[in-house]
Amino acid sequence: MNTPAQTPALKKILPEISIQSGRPSSEITLSAEAQQDVHQAYLVTLRQRFKTEINRLTQGDMQEMLKAHSENAHDLSFMMTYVYALNWLQQNVHSEFQQEVLAAFTNGPQAFLMQMILQSTNTAEFITAYISYWENFQGEPQLQQQQILALLQRADDRQQLVNHIENTWNKLQLFSNSFTPDYFARGYKDIARQEKQRYAGMLAEEDKLRLKLIDALPDVSSLNFFNKLGLIPAMGCPQTCRHCMFVFRPLMKNTDDPDTLYQMVDKLTTSVLFTGGDLTKHLDHFYNAITHMQHVTTFAILLNGDFADSRDVTENILSKMASAIRRRPLSWPKANVHLQISFDEFHQEVVVDRKGNLKERIPVVKIANIVETAPKYNDEIQLCLCHKQSHLNFSMDVFKKGVFARLAKELARRGHQVQVLSTAPSSRLKRNPHNPQTPAQLIKDATFILTKYPQALLMLTSSTIDAYGRAEMMALHEAVNERDLLKQMLAGQGTGAETFDNDLMFWFNGWATLFSAVHICLGNVFEEGMQTIRQRQAKDPLSNAMHRFDIRLLDFYREVRDDLDAIIEKSTGPHHLFHAITEDGAIRLHLTERLIDSGIL
Ligand code: SF4
Repeated sequence: MNTPAQTPALKKILPEISIQSGRPSSEITLSAEAQQDVHQAYLVTLRQRFKTEINRLTQGDMQEMLKAHSENAHDLSFMMTYVYALNWLQQNVHSEFQQEVLAAFTNGPQAFLMQMILQSTNTAEFITAYISYWENFQGEPQLQQQQILALLQRADDRQQLVNHIENTWNKLQLFSNSFTPDYFARGYKDIARQEKQRYAGMLAEEDKLRLKLIDALPDVSSLNFFNKLGLIPAMGCPQTCRHCMFVFRPLMKNTDDPDTLYQMVDKLTTSVLFTGGDLTKHLDHFYNAITHMQHVTTFAILLNGDFADSRDVTENILSKMASAIRRRPLSWPKANVHLQISFDEFHQEVVVDRKGNLKERIPVVKIANIVETAPKYNDEIQLCLCHKQSHLNFSMDVFKKGVFARLAKELARRGHQVQVLSTAPSSRLKRNPHNPQTPAQLIKDATFILTKYPQALLMLTSSTIDAYGRAEMMALHEAVNERDLLKQMLAGQGTGAETFDNDLMFWFNGWATLFSAVHICLGNVFEEGMQTIRQRQAKDPLSNAMHRFDIRLLDFYREVRDDLDAIIEKSTGPHHLFHAITEDGAIRLHLTERLIDSGIL
C-alpha cells in the first residue's frame, strides 16, 4: 500500500485501498457452434482492424508521419504502410490466425503484399522482397514500381536502400513504444497509480477546506427531490475490458447496516441505480433494497452479465429479483427492476491466449441466457442491454453484424427469433471511427422482442466511450467519441441538452460522490448526515458549474496549471475534459474559490 501520510481523523474517513484482484471470470464451455461464432468474430474483428489501419495510413497518415524523418516521404509512404501492416499483424494477431486473417485480402490487387507479409519474418526481409518484386515486375507500369525505381536511383545500391528504409521505419518508433504487451502493462500500471492517488486525495485536506467553503455559503431553502440516486455496495470487477473507466478501485469498509442508507435515500427519489462494477456477489443487497424502500419504484442495476453461467443460474437470480418485487406490500407503489446488462464489442471482445485459444471476455452465451429468461418476468423486470457505440451503430449493421448478430444466432439455436421493432437515432450526428471525414446519423436506441414473447419489450441503448481509466490506452479511431461536441463547447456554443450529471451516488462506506465523477466527494453521509450532503450538493459552485459545462472553469484552471491545451488535445468529449481538470484536490479547491470570488454560484 502506498497512500500519502494521513491525519488520524482522515484515516477514519478514508477506506483502505487495494488493487482489485484480477481473478478470471467463471469459465463456461461453449457449444461447437458458439465456439465457431467466436472464431469467426475474432477473424472479422481483426480483418476490420487491419483494413482500417491500412486505409488510415494510405489516406495520408503514413506520409504525414514520414515527413519528419525522410525527404522521400511521398515515395516511401505506400511501402511503409505495408511495413506497418507486417508489424501490426505480428503484434496483434496470434501466429496461428495470421494466414486466416489475411485470407480475406488475397484476391485483390494487393494479394502479392499479403503473401509477402506472411512470408517475411522481419521488417528487413519484407523490404528486400518488396524491392525485388518491383525490380522484376513485367506488367503494366505501376505507380508503386515507379516509386521504388526512383528510390533505387537515388540510393548507392539496393542494400543501401534497404538499410535507409529500415532506419526510417525504426525512427518512427511505432511498435517499439506502443502496442506491445509491455507498453500496455506499463501504461495500465501508471493509470492505476494515478487513480489510487486520486482516491487518496478524496476528502483529504484540500477537499475538507473546499467543503468548508461550501458549508459557509447561505443554505438553500427548498432542496430538490432527485430524479435518481446511485447506490454502490462494492467497487471492483475481475474483468479487464480495454474500455473500462477504472483500472484501480478502492476497497471499501462498508456499513453493516445498509438499511439506514436505504431509508435516507427512500425519502429523496423514486429511482435508484445499483452500480460499482461486478455486483454478482452483492445481489442480496439489491433484493433487500427492493423490499425495504417503499417509495422507490425503479430499481435499476447495472451488471456485466458474467453471473449468467447457465440457464438455471440465470433463472435463479432473475426469479429472486422478481420475487423481491412481488414481496413488496400491496399498499406500496408498484415497482420494477431495470436490469441493465453491458453488451457490446468491448465486453464481448474475443481475446486470444498464448496457446491460441479464443475466448470472449464475457461470453455472448451468458447474455443469451439473460435475454431468454427476462421475458418470463415481464411484469417485474425490464431488460436493457447497454451498448458502447462503434462503427456498426451507423447503420442496421449494428443488428446484423458484431455481438448482436452473435446473440441472435445463439438464440436461434435455442429456437428463438429476434425481431427489432424500432430504432431511434442519437440527437447529434457523430463520426464513424472507420470513416471519420463526415459526421453521420447513428442508431442510439432500439427495442426488440423474442417472437415467442411479443409482449416483452427488450431495450438496447448505446453510449460513447470516454478515454478515462483503461480506455486511455485505446486509439482514438477505435471508438465513437464526442470531440465534435467538445469543439462546439469550446467555441462557446454550449452542449445542447448534454449536462454533467451531478446527481448523487452513495457508497456503502458513506461517501457521497457525483454520478459523472466518482472522484468528487461531498462528504460522508454516515458521519455528517444527509441534510449536510444535500445542502452541499445544492450549493457546491464547482459541481453546479460542471453540471452546465461552464467554460469559465477552464480559465480558472489555466491560472494554476499550464497543461490545459494538452488535456484538451487528449479529451474525447466535454465530460472527459471536465473530469480531467478536477482530478486533483488542490485544483478542486482553487476552482471552488475562484467561482465563489467571481460570484458564480
Ligand atoms: S467495463 Fe464493466 S465488465 Fe469490463 S472491467 Fe469495467 S466494470 Fe468490469
